[in-house]
Amino acid sequence: MSETTPQLQVRDLQKTYGINQVLRGLNIDIQSGEKIAIIGPSGSGKSTLLRILMTLEAPNGGSVKVDGESVWTMNFNGQEKKANEAHMHRMRSKLGMVFQHFFLFPHLSVRQNLTLAPKLVSNVSGSVADQMAMDLLKMVGMDGKADAFPAQLSGGQKQRVAIARALAMQPEIMLFDEVTSALDPELVHEVLNVLRKLAEKSDMTMLLVTHEMNFAREIADRVLFFDSGVILEEGPPSEIFTEPKQQRTQEFLKTVL
Ligand code: ADP
Ligand code: MG
Repeated sequence: MSETTPQLQVRDLQKTYGINQVLRGLNIDIQSGEKIAIIGPSGSGKSTLLRILMTLEAPNGGSVKVDGESVWTMNFNGQEKKANEAHMHRMRSKLGMVFQHFFLFPHLSVRQNLTLAPKLVSNVSGSVADQMAMDLLKMVGMDGKADAFPAQLSGGQKQRVAIARALAMQPEIMLFDEVTSALDPELVHEVLNVLRKLAEKSDMTMLLVTHEMNFAREIADRVLFFDSGVILEEGPPSEIFTEPKQQRTQEFLKTVL
């Protein structure tokens, strides 16, 4: 693969719910290792994009490629062509996602939350999965809670476990959808610290939908501003946050900064 092939390539991506056109022809190129902040008003399609990338939802048109290979290919009727299961599984395994509302398995311990998928899906042995889980829990500062259950944790702790759980599948691209939005204000920083560490230390590609503008400015290589299902403006944080070109971007930033 040539160096210029983007790791993630989105072309003319469209998504409609009923008469509501939510994504109106998105085009995005992301290089391996880039840290991308996605900002924009509520309802502009940010979560929809992430869910389509994660294959949790099908688009109505356009294409998504990872490493030059199709994740979604649409036929002329806008119906998804059924890729074979093995292909979908392989493409899906390149991505990991963390949600606003954690979605931990409530009946499993913290450690088991991390080891379940590696053992079931990736056929990793129990002892290897356990070791990897403990390493990741240490990284997010949760190794002391390996045997606790989700209900015994604070929101910030749950979210740090959810991040570690996604990392346990060793994705190449991580999607974070407003992972601090459901947290009490005093717990936000502990999750941002984990994300900051990941952004600095790992060569993973990261896409973060966030309302934490200072954080976005600090860690992002590039900022995408979403508005009504298109990327209205994009650029390095130094440009987007200090001299946005579009009036909509200026207005949005005024409300959140
Ligand atoms: P954002 O994450 O930027 O706030 P979303 O991607 O969640 O925006 O939503 C974009 C639009 O799509 C909103 O108008 C929302 O109501 C609509 N939408 C999202 N998911 C669904 C769904 N499953 N069914 C119908 N409409 C949806
Ligand atoms: Mg959203």
